[in-house]
Amino acid sequence: MTDLPTDLPADTTTDPLVTLPAEADVVICGAGPVGAATAYYLARPGLRVVVLNYDPPGDPANLATYRYSGGSLRWTWPDPVKREMTTETEKFIRGAAPQVDLAMLQNTYHLLHTGELIPALNVSATRLVELLRDQAEERGAQFIDAVAVTGVRPDGSGHMVETTRGTVRAGRVLGAMGAANASVFPQSSAAPEKRQLFVLDLPVPPEREQMPHTIVPVGDGFGYVFLKLIDDRLRVLVGQEDIVEDDDTSGPVDHWSTILDRGLGATLPWLREARVDEILWGVDTAQKTLVVDEPATGLLIANCGSAIRSAAWLGRTLAERLGA
Ligand SMILES: Cc1cc2nc3c(=O)[nH]c(=O)nc-3n(C[C@H](O)[C@H](O)[C@H](O)COP(=O)(O)OP(=O)(O)OC[C@H]3O[C@@H](n4cnc5c(N)ncnc54)[C@H](O)[C@@H]3O)c2cc1C
Repeated sequence: MTDLPTDLPADTTTDPLVTLPAEADVVICGAGPVGAATAYYLARPGLRVVVLNYDPPGDPANLATYRYSGGSLRWTWPDPVKREMTTETEKFIRGAAPQVDLAMLQNTYHLLHTGELIPALNVSATRLVELLRDQAEERGAQFIDAVAVTGVRPDGSGHMVETTRGTVRAGRVLGAMGAANASVFPQSSAAPEKRQLFVLDLPVPPEREQMPHTIVPVGDGFGYVFLKLIDDRLRVLVGQEDIVEDDDTSGPVDHWSTILDRGLGATLPWLREARVDEILWGVDTAQKTLVVDEPATGLLIANCGSAIRSAAWLGRTLAERLGA
């Protein structure tokens, strides 16, 4: 694992009134899809849940993957288990926010290599996390932002969560910081894989604004070409799942030319002209399943690929393991 922040910038909060509670039943570190969903399912039966989140916009140390996720919820899942996970998230959205018109989010996936156009359902992952968070807060979970978790140590029968703003004691703790789990819990076996997402400098011509989410073979895996609004600008993004950063410690490597050479450039020659404006890093896992490590009783560290589409299932499953 490479470019993870070791020194987190100083606390940026300007609200002196928000103080950390001394203790909670469960502390969740990270308010991405995994943390927010788990908070919701833990708060429902009335547990005292505190969620600590460090997510200042524009900070290079911020590795909140969900912001850059493709947001794909449902398309053709032959695997019944995956289909069920997806359906649970879809039901959650329909129940929690009937005003979200899922029909409006219908999208098309274009499998370029087979010529198939597959109907799909996409969500804004940022909106989904907001929904999960609203629902959790409504049931009593406390979310505290601008607090970076720096470590967790044993404390009697529970755990002490250390942060940039003091400590919180809890019987049970969930590490749900995505890629940052690896820096806060370096010994954990639940380390995620990290994938690159390239933001290209291509102007998007009007005729391409409705471009379906295009899937292209790249090497042994697939590349994903899609459009996304970033800072009010429609951008062309390319993700790929063949080349991942495993335990390389030499620093980030730009794999753009590699994936062009492995098939993307031949299939979509217009991409050859592109310059990479930005490389975003995010957590995903090859298996796209939940990986949980429990290094001490009551301390769970969770990493999961496809956490957007399986958010509700993940939250429920982790909450059950944490005693809800
Ligand atoms: C390029 C790409 C495309 C993807 N597309 C899809 C898709 O279409 N559909 C899908 O289902 N999945 C997709 N995924 C996978 C999905 O985005 C991830 O599985 C998901 O974001 C993981 O959720 P998480 O909550 O574990 O981590 P994150 O989303 O990274 O959230 C972690 C949270 O913890 C916070 N945090 C970080 N450090 C600290 C700290 N020290 N203290 C406190 N808080 C901290 C972060 O700010 C963030 O709020 C994609 C992934 C990538 C990389």
